[in-house]
Amino acid sequence: MSRIPLMAGNWKMNLDHLEATATVQRLHWALQDANFDYDKVEVAVLAPFTDLRSIQTITDADNMSIRYGAQDVSVHPDGAYTGEISARMLAKLSCSYVVVGHSERRQYHGETDMEVGEKALAALGGGMVPIICVGEALGIRKAGEHVAYTLAQIDAVFSELGPELAPRAVVAYEPIWAIGTGEVATPADAQEVCGAIRERLAELYGRETAETIRVLYGGSVKSANVAAIMAEPDVDGGLVGGASLDPEEFARICRFGEHVA
Ligand code: PEP
Repeated sequence: MSRIPLMAGNWKMNLDHLEATATVQRLHWALQDANFDYDKVEVAVLAPFTDLRSIQTITDADNMSIRYGAQDVSVHPDGAYTGEISARMLAKLSCSYVVVGHSERRQYHGETDMEVGEKALAALGGGMVPIICVGEALGIRKAGEHVAYTLAQIDAVFSELGPELAPRAVVAYEPIWAIGTGEVATPADAQEVCGAIRERLAELYGRETAETIRVLYGGSVKSANVAAIMAEPDVDGGLVGGASLDPEEFARICRFGEHVA
């Protein structure tokens, strides 16, 4: 069963709404110049909340095929939760995706697997696709426990989702030691864990369903290394941080199929 690759740019807390508009426009032009086929690779930017209305406006006005989404969502539908943003608010802005459980939110905001699962459920309930981030820190990798650790995160997060909604999610395997460090996992490292994630999804939801769920790799992805990573059978795309802030470089990453692995 074929899975359409997804290249998703996680802008983190970068780019105000004016910069976001210009960046999306440049990404669109760079892909247009290359006759990019969005049916073969889906492209998304995951932007700060304050950028989303502007991105909606520019993508609508110029009929762009670039999708977009948020980097977090509240577990609550509405109410007295100062500073939070609900799934309904994001859906109203036509967001396609929501990142949940990024390691920076787990680290700086103490998000637990249970909360990440609840956020994924909130996104799915709003008709959006959660990009569920999992992955180990360096000490766990050095101890050789990275597969077991990551699968325990998968078990815990997916236990919050029902069997009907769960298969609509996207998983992003992001070894923490490779995020923003320039230290990229080898293609074999990425495949080892992405393959193990798919096996676990097959145990949970059946082989046929597991073959439809996209598993991304994230951690210092660049145009120079993306083709080799994407050549692995269980890697279905990239969650790209730093390199996605440069729209021409991100466009080259999206065009990984034209590179020699
Ligand atoms: C990320 O933010 O999810 C990420 C993978 O960052 P970078 O590509 O900069 O390592």
